[in-house]
Amino acid sequence: MSDDGERGAPGSGLVNGLAVTLKTMTKRSTTRQYPDVEPDLPPRSRGVIALLEENCTVCMLCARECPDWCIYIDSHKEEVIVPGAARARQRNVLDRFDIDFSLCMYCGICIEVCPFDALHWTPEFEYAELDLRDLLHEKDRLGDWMRTVPPPPAHDAKGEPSKEEATAARKAAGPGAATAAKTARPAVRRTAPPAEKPAPTEKPEPAEKPAPTEKPDLPESGQ
Ligand code: SF4
Ligand code: SF4
Repeated sequence: MSDDGERGAPGSGLVNGLAVTLKTMTKRSTTRQYPDVEPDLPPRSRGVIALLEENCTVCMLCARECPDWCIYIDSHKEEVIVPGAARARQRNVLDRFDIDFSLCMYCGICIEVCPFDALHWTPEFEYAELDLRDLLHEKDRLGDWMRTVPPPPAHDAKGEPSKEEATAARKAAGPGAATAAKTARPAVRRTAPPAEKPAPTEKPEPAEKPAPTEKPDLPESGQ
């Protein structure tokens, strides 16, 4: 039956079906014989999450924002002696950083909120396990995924340089240039002197008030 509800000739449905089958048979197949043939994935696919441990300051933002509570972090504090400083400084040292990929829903919030670029997406997806518990990736395994993180996209050639690049360029230009750039005052825009005020026009003298008209004498009543 056609879309408008009319019946076609008897057997036309069968012919149409066979035509579709023949067309599909002669077309090139798009099926990938995975795992023999690797799929072509976009470079920014969300596969697994990698950890760059050196960048992590144990700020706990990722663990707090994860909607599935599947990031586990432990740390301890260490004292660092800074030459010239009055007191020793403290820094966090990461002891444990695990992500449970059996709970993760790949929302990417942890990567978005990390202020120090310690978490990255990689397109690597071949980490299926027979045991669910093996989907808990520990610090070393997460760090190992860093080798599969694609390089960041190139900067826009027409974009403004980042703050860090501008500072580095100023430093490279020498201390004089940096001081000059800091102390340079904005150019003063000369504006035309204000036009002289027009002389106040003399106020016209108010016209003389008309003399009050005398009241007419009222006729005396005959009481
Ligand atoms: S991708 Fe989402 S669910 Fe997975 S660990 Fe990060 S924040 Fe949690
Ligand atoms: S948000 Fe980034 S720096 Fe903070 S604990 Fe997570 S991975 Fe480390």
